[in-house]
Parts: sequence; C-alpha cells; structure tokens
Amino acid sequence: MRVYLDNSATTKVDARVVEAMLPYFTDTFGNPSSLHGFGRGALKGVDAARDYIAAYFNCRPSEIYFTSGATESNNWVLRGIVGASNNKIKHIVTTNIEHPAILDTCRDLEREGVLVSYIKCNNEGVVSVEDVKNAVTDNTILVSVMAANNETGAIQPIKEIGAFCKAEGIPFHSDAVQAIEALDFDVNELNLDMLSLSGHKFHAPKGIGLLYLRSGVKLKKLITGGHQERNQRAGTTNAAFIVALAKGLEIAKEEREATNARLTVLRDYFIKRALAEIPYCYLNGGITHRLPNNVNLSFGFIEGESILMLLDIKGIAVSSGSACSSGSLEPSHVILALGVKEELAHSSVRFSLGKDTTKEELDYTLEALKESVARLREISPLFNVQTGTGSYV
Ligand SMILES: *Cc1c(COP(=O)(O)O)cnc(C)c1O
Repeated sequence: MRVYLDNSATTKVDARVVEAMLPYFTDTFGNPSSLHGFGRGALKGVDAARDYIAAYFNCRPSEIYFTSGATESNNWVLRGIVGASNNKIKHIVTTNIEHPAILDTCRDLEREGVLVSYIKCNNEGVVSVEDVKNAVTDNTILVSVMAANNETGAIQPIKEIGAFCKAEGIPFHSDAVQAIEALDFDVNELNLDMLSLSGHKFHAPKGIGLLYLRSGVKLKKLITGGHQERNQRAGTTNAAFIVALAKGLEIAKEEREATNARLTVLRDYFIKRALAEIPYCYLNGGITHRLPNNVNLSFGFIEGESILMLLDIKGIAVSSGSACSSGSLEPSHVILALGVKEELAHSSVRFSLGKDTTKEELDYTLEALKESVARLREISPLFNVQTGTGSYV
C-alpha cells in the first residue's frame, strides 16, 4: 500500500488540471506577449484565467499578479513594501509561526535596519488580534499574518486583524497558501490588501502562484526585466501554469464543502485513535481552529525523523517538522512556539490528509505507526530509563 499523507508539502496535480493545461504546451504554445495569432491564443487563456481568479477572490483582474509561487509573492510583499516606503523608521508586524519565506525574509530585512515584531501564538497555535493591535506603532508599514499554519493547521483570525488594519490604514498581507483549499477567500470581506498563494498546495503544479495586490498599495518591483504583468513582474508569462492555477481554484471551490466535511471526520478519527492507542502520544495545536486535513502528533522518547523513515519503508509519506527545514537538527520553530518542550518538538510528525485520503489508508497508517513507535521505543534508552517499561535498559 502507498499512502500519501504529506499534502501540506505538496499535492498531486488533479487530472482535470493537467487536461486544462496540456494544449498550452503544444497547440497554444505562443508567448502571450507576442502580437501574432500564436501569442493572442495563449493570451486568451491567460486573460480568462485572470478573470476567473479575480471573480474568485472578489477583486479586479488588474489586482492579480502571477508569480512563481508564494515564496516569491511573500518576498515581493516584504521587500517591496520596504522599498516603496519613505518612512525613516520602517516597522513590520508578523508572527513567530510564519513560513520561512516570511521569517527568513524578515530576518534579512532586519539586517538592513527594518524593525520587525514577531507576535507569539498561544498553545493552540493561534495568534491574538489584541497582540497585533498592541504591536502596531506609528511606523508600522505592514502587518503580515498567515491564514493557516502549515505545520499545525491552526487557522488565524485574519478577518479581525484585517478589520483593524483597515481602520488604522495599515496594509495587511496574508500568506494564504495552506488555507486556500479549505477556506473561502473574499479579499473585501477579509479586508486583505495582499494575499500570496502557491498552486501546488491545491492540486495545481509547482512553480506557479500569485500575489493579489489591492490597487493603491505600492510595492517596489522584485523581479525586473520585461513588461509582463502590467510592468510589475518581469518574466515570460507562463500560460499553461496560469490556466492550471485557475482550474485548481475552480475544482477546490467546487469540492470544498464535501471535502472539508469528509476530512474533518477522518482527521478526528485518526487523532482519537492515535491518542487512545499509542502511549505518550500528544496532539500539537488545538482542535477548534484547525484545518480539516491536519494532524500533528508528538511521540515521547523518540525522534520524528525515525518514525518518518520507518513509515516510509511501509510506503507511507509523512513529514517531521516542516519539509523545508528537514535536514536541519533544530526542532520546528512552530511546534516550539506552542510551548512544547524541545524533546517533544523533536518527536513531532505531521500527517496532512488530502482530498483522496481514505479511512482504509488511515487504518493502515495507524497500525504501522503503533508498530514503528513500539519498535523505536524498544531501542530508546530514554524510554526505558524514564518509564521503566522497556524490554531492556
Ligand atoms: C508551501 C508554503 C509556502 C511556499 O510555497 P512555495 O511554493 O514553496 O513558494 C509559503 N507559505 C506556506 C504557508 C506554505 O505552506
């Protein structure tokens, strides 16, 4: 059996998305900026995709900028707003649970003299609107809070934060990558000025994403060159992937209600059984403000990486910490931010369900998990000393 439970790292491209994009590699391969028929054909696809996406987010087509993905969009927002600001003191408010595309970029900007406040989340992984309000100063040029966290699935109060920022006249950005498939996004209802997303987290390809940028908000260009994207983001327009992105959104919207309902039941079933059947197993993050596809568990006395590898042998794909930070020995900054002790943070494993996940797959995973955890504890000196229940010391 092959079980893919790493949908927060990336998803399989939907067959209907592949079908929609294929003509743009062959028949309609022209450069959308070209004036001839080949170009106009490709441009037609791009325009239709942009119109669909604008309607989807309740914004104007001219407020959508296609990028290579959320990493680029996040970089553009942060570096662009700093570059466009004339403030003597430039202050950004963000959180301590953001994706490295935000956090690492903020650290870089700090080295250039930008001030950054990192709001802490509570032990359920959620930041408070009050803390954002208290962090804002007269010099704040941007508030950036993710819509949902990639490791814990914790959904953030962006609507309330957006309302506050609007009242204060401070541009508000959200990295919405993880929440796109599960939640509705109306940029006006949410008072969003900027939103980043990546296609590959909702069954479109890797290497395509977008930035929604409310008209009137000024960003310095990040990528310079040709005049694509209304002269704001250079690089040959990727018609095939843009068409795919729109199709991915369309399918996500169509299937949202049914998928959310099904995954919530599966998620809770998996959590309940894991907590009941595996000793020293803990849920990271709360349950109320959680994406329907996210399970994040810690297993006392053993390493998350070791569990990942034993599950991999059985054909099961999961993540320990964030896929982007694996390879580093540091425990996940997000799990630590919950107040989880370092040792337990090291033992965290993320199971991210997808729209195709079945109960049978989860049953198979639970059995493999029980076996793997027991096997690792048998050889864990820590486990035997601290619990006195191991087979040898
Ligand atoms: C995956 C992810 C990103 C980065 O997306 P890329 O496609 O790698 O650019 C940014 N933010 C969050 C929350 C993510 O989950």
